[in-house]
Amino acid sequence: MLSSMKVTKTFIPTLREVPADAVIVSHRLMFRSGMLRKLANGLFAYLPLGLRAFRKVETIIREEMDATGSLEIKPTVVVPAELWKESGRWEAMGEAMLRVKNRLGADFVVSPTAEEAVTSLVRDELSSYRQLPLSIYQINTKYRDEIRPRYGVMRGREFVMKDAYSYHTDEASLDETYKAMGRAYRRIFQRCGLSVIPVRADSGAMGGSDSEEFMVESEIGDNTLILCKDCAYAANVEKAGCKPDFTAPSSLEASMPALEKIDTPQVKTIDELCAFLKTDAKRFIKTLIYRAINVELDLSAAPGGSQLAKRKPAPEAPEVYPEAFFAVAIRGDLEVNEIKLAALLKASEVALAADSDVVRLTNAPVGFAGPVGLSGIPIIVDETVTAMNDGVTGALAQDLHYAHVVYGRDFQSWMVADVRTVKAGDRCALCGGELYEKKGNELGHIFKLGYKYTRSMNVSYLDENGKSHLPLMGTYGIGLDRTLASVIEEHHDDDGIIWPLTIAPYHVIIIPIKYEGAVQALADELAAALEKTGVEVLLDDRNERPGVKFKDADLIGIPYRVVVGDKNLALEVPKVEVKRRGEKESHLVEAAKAAEELRGLVQGELEEMASQ
Ligand SMILES: [Zn+2]
Repeated sequence: MLSSMKVTKTFIPTLREVPADAVIVSHRLMFRSGMLRKLANGLFAYLPLGLRAFRKVETIIREEMDATGSLEIKPTVVVPAELWKESGRWEAMGEAMLRVKNRLGADFVVSPTAEEAVTSLVRDELSSYRQLPLSIYQINTKYRDEIRPRYGVMRGREFVMKDAYSYHTDEASLDETYKAMGRAYRRIFQRCGLSVIPVRADSGAMGGSDSEEFMVESEIGDNTLILCKDCAYAANVEKAGCKPDFTAPSSLEASMPALEKIDTPQVKTIDELCAFLKTDAKRFIKTLIYRAINVELDLSAAPGGSQLAKRKPAPEAPEVYPEAFFAVAIRGDLEVNEIKLAALLKASEVALAADSDVVRLTNAPVGFAGPVGLSGIPIIVDETVTAMNDGVTGALAQDLHYAHVVYGRDFQSWMVADVRTVKAGDRCALCGGELYEKKGNELGHIFKLGYKYTRSMNVSYLDENGKSHLPLMGTYGIGLDRTLASVIEEHHDDDGIIWPLTIAPYHVIIIPIKYEGAVQALADELAAALEKTGVEVLLDDRNERPGVKFKDADLIGIPYRVVVGDKNLALEVPKVEVKRRGEKESHLVEAAKAAEELRGLVQGELEEMASQ
């Protein structure tokens, strides 16, 4: 990157008006500042100013990755479909994956992610334990055919990701790399000037266990975070837990009223039932029937489990039940968290069963399911239900409910687990503080994949005794475009972007009031002097009114602005005016010392950001 540039020699097409489809600040400002233009829905071109900022993010990421010992490679973006068929994701990725055929009719994929491509590389080259651990990364283009690309590069179809993959002989080694990546990620975001919230996350369709997501708060975030007001607890709602708000009785008491069947004509919803019985939802035991796909959990001892079909999706993969049904009983005021449920069952997917399946499995009309007398299907009881000693629940027959239901007396469970969706107002499991919700956008994600891909793609190495093993694997991603857009979301005002110095396309902008005569000479001299000391400088040499130049300088957000004008140059000691973007006051600096002063300011700020 050139470190000195004149505005008339580069291409910064700023806009006064806001593009109609730009609803978030970063989208608006990236267009208005001339950083970005749209080619098609979800496809964007970075112009010179935008690319400079983008490269800064890229450089920070590369430096921090290199520092972890990870090695950069550059695989192709287009990869053969065979690799995706092997991993089983040719189908699993669905429509989000862009598939193309070459002239011979062979299938290819425009990479939405690179576990397959990288793992195939490693498979071909890995032979001995001596090569491990191995950590490699790429900074490369990805394509995901999002249905509704929105918010500019925050959710575009084509984007750049840094993705790293590590391979290990044992858990301790994987853990060491995983932790080093976590530290590197914290440094990357801090160097970018971003306040990220690291949250424990569920790895969802990616499989595996230990994982951490790096989120930024965002109104348009597609994740809901659960945070504690009193401590550092932060979790994705998909996985969040809370302090139990119930106490399970230590034993069944004889004084508890006996189970009673009650007529509840025309009552179907919980609200109707509460009104009818003059009680609240907390006394209701809600029973939902779920259908789970590819269940890895052993169901041989579960009700109906011995009759379930099993299959092996791939030669090296574990046996799974392609389809299984479960009843989930939970306190009536709560919602079942399907991600927690899927994790519990080791299922690739869970969803509410179709009405016809509910009727078949409960022998009752929809709306009257209940755990009492329910057989032939495993009953998963949420922890909250274990504390209910006077519950109400469906009686597996039209217009009938049970009252005075007691868990352990009137029905048993196949499994007790925490499957509730935690919400604002619940209590923190760590400190008891109040939990609240925030919307967040994911910028990065690190996780331990375990054997998922090395098993399905048959990667192995020989140990010191010549015995073959599967390596453990970890994966670590960061979206670059999204990170850049998030920097703007966090650093702007009504006039435009306020770049952190580390990401700014240029450190200093020089604005000559009129680019001619002594002013021109000094502006040029100052630009040359700054360039020599490594300060990146943009010189606004346009024949425009000062007001226009000031407005543009604020819009594109260059951190330091130097105004060179006749009046200050005519002072006994000639001076220039220096102002930090985002601050109100400017100050005068001796023209002869301006380069040195600016170098000091820029270097000081860069060092401060690096050392935090
Ligand atoms: Zn807490």
